[in-house]
Amino acid sequence: QVKNREIESLMNRNLAPAAVRVLHDLGRVGDRLELPVYAVGGFVRDLLLGHDNADMDVTVEGDGILFAEAFAVQHGGRVKSHQKFGTAVIVLPDGSKIDVASTRLEYYESPGALPTVEHSSLKMDLYRRDFTVNTLAIRLNAASFGTLIDYFGAYRDLQAKVIRVLHNLSFVEDPTRVFRAIRFEQRLNFKIARHTEDLIKNAVKMEFLEKLGGRRLLTELIQILKEKEPLKGIGRMASLGLLRFIHPDLELSLTLQEMLEDARYVVSWYDMLYLEASYESWSVFFLVLCDSLNDDEFLSTCNRLAVSEHFKEKLALARRQGNELLAGLERKLIQQGKLDNSEIYFFLRGLPVEVLLYQMAKTRNAELRRCISLYFTKLQGVRTLVRGDDLKKLGLAKGPRYREILDAVLSARLNGSVHSREDELQLVQGLIAGL
Ligand code: ATP
Repeated sequence: QVKNREIESLMNRNLAPAAVRVLHDLGRVGDRLELPVYAVGGFVRDLLLGHDNADMDVTVEGDGILFAEAFAVQHGGRVKSHQKFGTAVIVLPDGSKIDVASTRLEYYESPGALPTVEHSSLKMDLYRRDFTVNTLAIRLNAASFGTLIDYFGAYRDLQAKVIRVLHNLSFVEDPTRVFRAIRFEQRLNFKIARHTEDLIKNAVKMEFLEKLGGRRLLTELIQILKEKEPLKGIGRMASLGLLRFIHPDLELSLTLQEMLEDARYVVSWYDMLYLEASYESWSVFFLVLCDSLNDDEFLSTCNRLAVSEHFKEKLALARRQGNELLAGLERKLIQQGKLDNSEIYFFLRGLPVEVLLYQMAKTRNAELRRCISLYFTKLQGVRTLVRGDDLKKLGLAKGPRYREILDAVLSARLNGSVHSREDELQLVQGLIAGL
């Protein structure tokens, strides 16, 4: 049995002092309202594992919304509540969030009717969760602050590093848990328990996963692709026969495996280069995963995954353009042996980062890879010093010539043949005069 003071010292060691204060404050508000309050789920799991987890999940045995509002009045912050589910999110003044759930729901079926009350205990609430390791709770009320509640052998599984479902129908009840099991297994470096793995295989065989809606499948896939080590998750999905739910022809060939490893490499390279990069790294892995599919198959995969119409079109177009442009660039490279910076720039300009990284992972041509990397590190940020206004002042009539001349100046700058604004203006004057 883990002692309260061990939990408290884990909190003091692993959490920011402000977070520990919030936990005590939550307990005190619970005391005032005479409601039992617990920290639960992933937060407790990660606390015991010594991992970072900023998302605080709290369960109240009673009305969680009332609790959240009382907390916000006393400690500041806003509350967003979902009456129907008895849940609320407290957004603290520093922007951090606390999710609050109720084990007792009271809701009104229709206006004016008496509330329907569903009683449930903490134990029932935790029993609805996906895996034992997510069923731990820590009591926060002052008199028993730090008491670890473990109904389902979670602590033992955490120590044995095992992902285990709570009952045999778990994957039938919710097939997304198959993907969640893989995600937790890979992220925490745990192992899916033997019996749980058999249940997954059974769910796959019985085709329960076919019933999973596209949107939910996509959400789970994205989560796996967003993990630090997406390859491990993809590998596990492949070995459990799950890739075919994305597309029947998908399999983890040696080529795909290599391409994924290269994608992992280029994504970390890019992340290191641009710490604040706003792009979707999961899309890079998704594009690589779908590399062997033709355009129609790619579209049908997006349909299966209920990718939004807008995003689907964008992705399909960029994928096609990327393939075409890179093939063009490669041909040119073979013909000429070397490319000017401006040639590289105008080939790659306009392609989304995700597609460029995908192409970088895909190509076996080291020179081509160097071109894309040069584009990222040097070329894409190059700008001319002359602007449209300068052309106007020089008397150039409005029209497509503006674009042509500015692109010609940009080419000269990319290739290093102009260095100053004077150089550029001289070039512009020559171009206008038709020299
Ligand atoms: P992460 O660090 O990825 O956010 P988490 O454990 O906090 O991990 P969430 O997806 O935020 O996971 O879910 C919060 C809690 O809700 C989990 O601890 C889990 O017990 C429960 N949960 C989430 N999805 C399911 C599901 N499909 N079935 C049962 N319980 C679930």
